[in-house]
Amino acid sequence: MDIAERVARLKPSATLSINARALELSARGKDILSLSVGEPDFPTPEHICAAAKEAIDAGFTRYTPVPGLPELRAAAAGYFRHFYSVHAAAENIIISNGGKHSLYLLFQTLLNPGDHVLLPSPCWVSYPPMVELAGAKPVMIPTLPENCFKISLLDLQHSLTPKTRMLILNSPSNPTGSCYTRAELDAVAAWGLANSVIIVSDEIYDRLAYSPEGPQSLSPWWEKHPENFVIVNGVAKTFAMTGWRIGYTLADAGLIAAMSRLQGQSTSNASSVSQKAALAALTQGYSHLGIMCRAFRERRDLALDIISSWPDVLCPQPEGAFYIFPDMHRHYRGALADSTSLCAALLDEAGVAVVPGAAFGDDHCLRISYAVAPAVLEQALARIARFLRL
Ligand code: GLU
Repeated sequence: MDIAERVARLKPSATLSINARALELSARGKDILSLSVGEPDFPTPEHICAAAKEAIDAGFTRYTPVPGLPELRAAAAGYFRHFYSVHAAAENIIISNGGKHSLYLLFQTLLNPGDHVLLPSPCWVSYPPMVELAGAKPVMIPTLPENCFKISLLDLQHSLTPKTRMLILNSPSNPTGSCYTRAELDAVAAWGLANSVIIVSDEIYDRLAYSPEGPQSLSPWWEKHPENFVIVNGVAKTFAMTGWRIGYTLADAGLIAAMSRLQGQSTSNASSVSQKAALAALTQGYSHLGIMCRAFRERRDLALDIISSWPDVLCPQPEGAFYIFPDMHRHYRGALADSTSLCAALLDEAGVAVVPGAAFGDDHCLRISYAVAPAVLEQALARIARFLRL
């Protein structure tokens, strides 16, 4: 059957497909340690699951308003008040089926064919295809491990053209774990404002920031300039709720209304039960966060310790999220001449699933998710080291 061009040229999500292959091999009885997909290994906190069960028992199983339950929209607005002293109204929030869907809707709603979208690279696998699906052009701004994979104002200035419409910032970053400092964020925000470039800040990992400065957000800039900034977040990483699929966007009310029209003509509301769970998440405290954050930080230290001892590997210290992104290219050789073939061999021959850097735009690196038990992390890294004779 002839598939529409825009989908025919779409590649599968590398993160999801490697995870699926790792699960499939495990199901067939192979001994696989997976450091592939990025999702907390913690269970969703009990009070959140209880709220979902109550919703089902109370028959809360019908359509909700398209942009989300009013109380959940208010609770998501409250998240920005609680953590960043930013005042937003429920009408500034739309609830969608996960952060990924929020971004997809946003790009479909804001971008026109021919618009340029600046993307610091390496970046998350789904940004470029989502931008292209909206007819716009991803413009990659390469970054280096020596600069902790961060862009400078000079880089931005060099990439600016009259067609530049948007910059996507993701701090803490997937795949590098790098975090922009408050001062760096402010400088980028001021640059965006001065050049009429809308900044989309994907803050899905904001709670998982390990530097002494802690989590930082562009939402204070949004509050002052609501038409120049858009913030995307969700409950997936903060509350270990990846499968529940609840993301939210903070934006100007006019943009939210436009996204809501598109959501109403495509997916309708996010799952009613998941919305009730997210409501419990966002209104019943954050006590689990300390434990989760500490655990991820310890695992970051463990992974960094081990990887730093590998010869000829460059790996800046990640400051957030749960990824580490070592430059391993000095160990590419023979048939294993790039990140894709090395990852395939690691999976098939060493029983370790990691994601090739090429999927994120940097073939020199491998993305390792350390959202697993420390013993698994240690064992998986030992397998990689043994395989490469490090
Ligand atoms: N964002 C996570 C990852 O990169 C989840 C999978 C995905 O949606 O890409 O592993």
